[in-house]
Amino acid sequence: MTGEHPTPPHNLPRSETYDAPSQDVSALPATGLPHPLTGQLFDSPVPAGGGWPGDPATATTPVAADQVGVTSAARTDDLRELEARVSVCRACPRLVGWREDVATAKRRAFAGEPYWGRPIAGWGDPNPAVLVVGLAPAAHGGNRTGRVFTGDRSGDWLFASLHRAGLAVQPTSVAAGDGQRLLRTRMVAAVRCAPPDNKPTPAERDTCAPWLRAEIGLVLASVRCIVALGSYGWDAVLRALRELGAQVPRPRPRFGHGAQSELPLPGGAVVHLLGSYHPSQQNTFTGRLTEPMLDAVLRRARTLADSPGD
Ligand code: SF4
Repeated sequence: MTGEHPTPPHNLPRSETYDAPSQDVSALPATGLPHPLTGQLFDSPVPAGGGWPGDPATATTPVAADQVGVTSAARTDDLRELEARVSVCRACPRLVGWREDVATAKRRAFAGEPYWGRPIAGWGDPNPAVLVVGLAPAAHGGNRTGRVFTGDRSGDWLFASLHRAGLAVQPTSVAAGDGQRLLRTRMVAAVRCAPPDNKPTPAERDTCAPWLRAEIGLVLASVRCIVALGSYGWDAVLRALRELGAQVPRPRPRFGHGAQSELPLPGGAVVHLLGSYHPSQQNTFTGRLTEPMLDAVLRRARTLADSPGD
């Protein structure tokens, strides 16, 4: 499998997306490195629609080339199409460069694997009762495996806890195609590309925000509870919910581990926002976040998911 990742023409007006040229990837000679589970060969970054497990895009999925393009592309009422469009976005030059450089250079432990090297779409139940919102993909985790929280230490903690809470079928999540499945649960990152030092700039956060807002809007009818992992996810969720018409108190509810806020939605339903410290190594190594602490939040989420609507 080969083929260059589609690059937007530089002479497009800033407000446009473009359709990547159609490409029959199956007709191209096989090069690249083998996917760790399927053995299929992929270049890094992985070309859209080339057969990567769970790749929502095709070679003709429109690519958002800037902030206006993101806003435009995020206007779809089809969740699968939204996932596809997110997964090929190129609106933030610094993050596109970083994610692709990491995908090419790789970490020594994964030198024999292809790296996804593209934005990470939301993943899980399309009609979730629980929505988990993190910060951004890890350079050698989601940016390698193509699936949110998959293939890094934070994900190890998170999936083990989700499994104990009855929200994931397996305690581990190592690669797309590994049989992991979320139960009435969906996961997203507030910013969809791996950032240097895990720090998106405010401009990158704002450019990416329409993807999160659109995704929350498309699944909100079934969501009983949103779990924000860290203050970054908490703030992103509150911004998105306010823009979607939820009643967010002023001053805004404060993030903390175990914090909970009930937010009335248009139409009378209520969504519960739960805060948890992020299962980053910085938190788990230092004991700031323990397994019982994370379990308590996710079990609370499970209880809310099981409870009748407000
Ligand atoms: Fe696109 Fe978001 Fe990635 Fe920026 S961070 S390139 S808006 S997916």
